[in-house]
Amino acid sequence: MRKLIAGNWKMNGLASSLAEIEALKGLTGEAACDIVVCPPFTLVEKAVECTKGAAIAVGAQDCHAQAAGAYTGDVSAGMLAEIGARFVILGHSERRLAYKEMDAAVAGKAAAVHEAGLTSIICVGETRAERDEGRAIDVVRAQLEGSIPDTATSSNMTIAYEPVWAIGTGLVPTLEQIGEVHSSIRHMLEERLGDDGRRVRILYGGSVKAQNAKAIFGVSNVDGALVGGASLKASEFAGIILAAV
Ligand code: PGA
Repeated sequence: MRKLIAGNWKMNGLASSLAEIEALKGLTGEAACDIVVCPPFTLVEKAVECTKGAAIAVGAQDCHAQAAGAYTGDVSAGMLAEIGARFVILGHSERRLAYKEMDAAVAGKAAAVHEAGLTSIICVGETRAERDEGRAIDVVRAQLEGSIPDTATSSNMTIAYEPVWAIGTGLVPTLEQIGEVHSSIRHMLEERLGDDGRRVRILYGGSVKAQNAKAIFGVSNVDGALVGGASLKASEFAGIILAAV
């Protein structure tokens, strides 16, 4: 399966950061994977302009489940589609934690993303305590079951497995641990979507760097990465992209 490397800029980036995308265009050249950058809302439209003609798609980091209305501070999937976004990250653990986003809310947003013709990147992952209690796989399964809407197919949904304890910490699960969770996600996707479940891309996220990317991409059922910190520096992000073959 062709890998997908997605950069999650989080709340980083001003107009000057678009230079990162310019640099990336030069660095990635003939990349063998699909590339997405997800800047904050304010930069989505500019990033779309900046990536015109390049094999780099643009995504957002959240959206509202409704198409329009009295939702102060929110942005709908249709609005993102209108300015050229193609992906939306949903249910990131930072949002689940800070805004108490529950699985059902994530599923509602994902359905809106699919309705707008965009691709959802649905994030799941256990906390350190849940892993220590031996519950990582159960937690991830439950999150997936609740967060995937009936509108999902392999063409409009990507899953990102991001252990909460690996995000921004420099800690990474062992390759065996990654393989175990990814294969159980694959199993669950097949139960849910039948044969189409085999074609859904499952990204790993959490302290992915140029230096560890190749080994992680060698694990079966790892179909790419969702990259936070290391996506902010074009040369580091390019290193990850070039490791994906
Ligand atoms: P990190 O973040 O790569 O900085 O660990 C990943 C993410 O939160 O998506």
